[in-house]
Amino acid sequence: MTESLYRGRFAPSPTGPLHFGSLVSALASWLDARAHHGGWLARIEDIDGPRTVRGAAEDILATLERFGMRADEPPVWQSRRTAHYERAFAQLQAVGLAYPCSCTRKEIADSLVRAHARHTTLAYPGTCRSGLHGKAPRAWRLRVPDSSNANASASPTDNPAVIHFDDRWQGPQSQNLATEVGDFVLYRADGQWAYQLAVVVDDAEAGITHIVRGADLLDSTARQIYLQRCLGMPTPSYLHVPVVVNEQGEKLSKQTGAHPLDASQPLDALQAAARHLGLDLAAGAHRSLDAFYRAAIPAWATRVEATQKR
Ligand code: GLU
Repeated sequence: MTESLYRGRFAPSPTGPLHFGSLVSALASWLDARAHHGGWLARIEDIDGPRTVRGAAEDILATLERFGMRADEPPVWQSRRTAHYERAFAQLQAVGLAYPCSCTRKEIADSLVRAHARHTTLAYPGTCRSGLHGKAPRAWRLRVPDSSNANASASPTDNPAVIHFDDRWQGPQSQNLATEVGDFVLYRADGQWAYQLAVVVDDAEAGITHIVRGADLLDSTARQIYLQRCLGMPTPSYLHVPVVVNEQGEKLSKQTGAHPLDASQPLDALQAAARHLGLDLAAGAHRSLDAFYRAAIPAWATRVEATQKR
């Protein structure tokens, strides 16, 4: 792939103003795009109606600009793209991969407790795979491959339920969708499209080649790769940066007390974000936004290379 085909993105959920944790993800994705002379897009993940805060998206986009990160194309709003999710969902339904589920959270939790007592699985147990047994549908799930016990002795690479990928920061990853996740939700009981479906459809349709984001999403990646395969979409390359945690070791978010960034002091926050990413910035990087990025782009490239050699 030539470098100019690189397309990256930052995809914030507008649940509040940009905070230090989300700045780290934005900066990492921006630096990676610029280090590859590629494009960088912003996508507002506002399909989770109950969590979306009015005005937060505009605030995030304005803050990114103040911090010197301007998207190369107008932002994409997930709330305006539901027809695309419906189409992808219909495609999965047509091949029998999507099925309705009537389980409540409590029913799933109870069956997981029972399964745990038997030391079997912590994944959704597939209760509704065989039908709803007269109950009303609540959500829709995607059928994942069975973890073929018959193949237990074969190499794990032969198991269709195991998804492998090479993360550019975290190294080789694998997850068994059958035993660790189970059939996962595409359409939620509250009438919203699930993040997993929307993110896969949007990344593919925007031609995203490189995804750079926080390591809290590492655990979602195998599901997304599986969905890409089911929908005949290409798999981008992935890089997950370490998440920022608070003093209690919780991921920094609005819920865990993250403060909004002070947009009048972008350089201080950017330098702190660069330190979190382990970038070795040349002297003078603190003088202006231009000087910061001139130092940070090559420092990022060096950092990623060092991570890969580890
Ligand atoms: N909207 C997600 C978040 O803010 C990020 C999704 C992604 O980068 O794939 O955590």
